[in-house]
Amino acid sequence: MKATRVAVVGGGLGGLTAAGLLAREGHAVTLFEGSSRLGGKAQSVKVDGLTLDTGPTLLTLPHVVRGLFERLGAEELLPPLSELEEQCTYRFADGCGFVAYRDVERTADSAGELRPSERRGVHGFYAEAESIWRAAGEPYLEAPFEGMGGFMARVARRGVGALARGMTLATLDELARAHFKTEHLRQFVGRFATYTGASPYEASAAYALIPHIERAYGVHHVRGGIGALAEALGEAVRRLGVEVRLDMRARFTREARGYRVGPPGGEEPFDSVVVNADPLDSLGRGGEVLALSGYVLLLEVDGRLALPHHAVLFSSDYRREFTELFGGQLASEPTVYFCNPSATDDTVAPPGKTGLFVMVNAPAMPREPAEAERAAAAWEQGAERVKEQILERLPRHFPSLRGRMRVVGQRTPVDLAAQGAPGGSIYGFLPHGLFGPFRRPRIRGGQPGLFFAGGGTHPGGGVPLVMLSGRFAAEMASAHLRRGA
Ligand SMILES: Cc1cc2nc3c(=O)[nH]c(=O)nc-3n(C[C@H](O)[C@H](O)[C@H](O)COP(=O)(O)OP(=O)(O)OC[C@H]3O[C@@H](n4cnc5c(N)ncnc54)[C@H](O)[C@@H]3O)c2cc1C
Repeated sequence: MKATRVAVVGGGLGGLTAAGLLAREGHAVTLFEGSSRLGGKAQSVKVDGLTLDTGPTLLTLPHVVRGLFERLGAEELLPPLSELEEQCTYRFADGCGFVAYRDVERTADSAGELRPSERRGVHGFYAEAESIWRAAGEPYLEAPFEGMGGFMARVARRGVGALARGMTLATLDELARAHFKTEHLRQFVGRFATYTGASPYEASAAYALIPHIERAYGVHHVRGGIGALAEALGEAVRRLGVEVRLDMRARFTREARGYRVGPPGGEEPFDSVVVNADPLDSLGRGGEVLALSGYVLLLEVDGRLALPHHAVLFSSDYRREFTELFGGQLASEPTVYFCNPSATDDTVAPPGKTGLFVMVNAPAMPREPAEAERAAAAWEQGAERVKEQILERLPRHFPSLRGRMRVVGQRTPVDLAAQGAPGGSIYGFLPHGLFGPFRRPRIRGGQPGLFFAGGGTHPGGGVPLVMLSGRFAAEMASAHLRRGA
């Protein structure tokens, strides 16, 4: 029998996942990637002996990643994953600190140093976050979202209590206020909204499932950086016979039987297509408010310093920060995140050096071409200002950094937009409001044989979730092709 031909448009982690799994099922898969490298946002660069990720740095739900490499028959290609006991160090504007550990008792002790009653808050918060995960998170992640009916049926199987809880969820900030007295720990909880590019004052309390996931499944480091994970996945996919065409921006058009996919003028027939590009434009939803973008600064530091692996240095007024960001401005005083992979991985920095990935949230850029051009021009000055703020803030909290930092790279929202992310938004669709997650573009693309995979679709952004969406897309495409056969 003639092999069915499937096109995958985009070689980010979601597209690679779908391509590999479809090839494993025996389909003839062609992957079109517009840039010269696979991996999409998950990339790393090598500078002066340092390996620095320019996109994702933190991995959770490691069983999803391991499960994918097993399904692809490529376990030996997966770089070692190591778990961090000290998950993230938080520093606040007033000089106080807090550390989230894998061990919740240690996290509670650390919170208790901010204020003794916050010990109880930590236990109460994580208990509620776990029940949110069981009631709503697992049903949302365990199957493609195809409408409220199927989702509510999965929720109802967990009991009436789960349904009731779902209906009373407020915002993430309100949940934080219910459990914590200090602004410090409210910022800690609120920060998880940014994992989906959202504001804690608008995103549903359901996003408390993210800190639960980190507590329950751990925060992991990929040896060599997440860029190494993307490279390994690319190799696994090629080994399965996927035909990878780099530097080839493709478009797709529907025809009577299947799709024509390829660069303009070079389209070829395919039975089905999985689109890893953001789906909003294809779905006619290009006017939606977008999730946040980000500014990334890469630093080489003289000396191997004793810095945490992950740290967040909060601003003094978190609400003002999000009001500014969603008002389209850079934050006047941004919260700064950094990742120091050499804290636990000797392969990413030579002796006597430290490499830092530093990031602050930034507004997505306008989509209207003239406004986008103005916003891109404004970034030339904006980047200088953010860089100065970062270089001032880091040594304020970690004095050993003073006089030792050298800028070796940066990425602005303009760079992300140039790679095809609408408005440079990291996550595309913005899931604000109680029903936000249910308005997320679905994997089934609304036309027979068309599927979406990646951070802009269900279940959402982040490395393991885009791998899940790639898996769902591959399963749905395979089922569609079997029916066709
Ligand atoms: C700075 C930053 C930090 C992040 N931090 C984390 C983190 O710590 N942990 C985490 O889990 N996640 C993090 N993320 C999010 C994570 O990187 C993404 O959610 C994930 O990598 C997106 O994968 P994707 O499948 O949606 O594909 P993308 O990475 O969006 O890739 C899509 C690919 O499609 C290609 N493409 C688009 N249109 C076309 C076309 N027409 N033809 C051909 N090719 C096309 C693009 O060139 C691109 O390669 C971060 C992202 C960024 C940018």
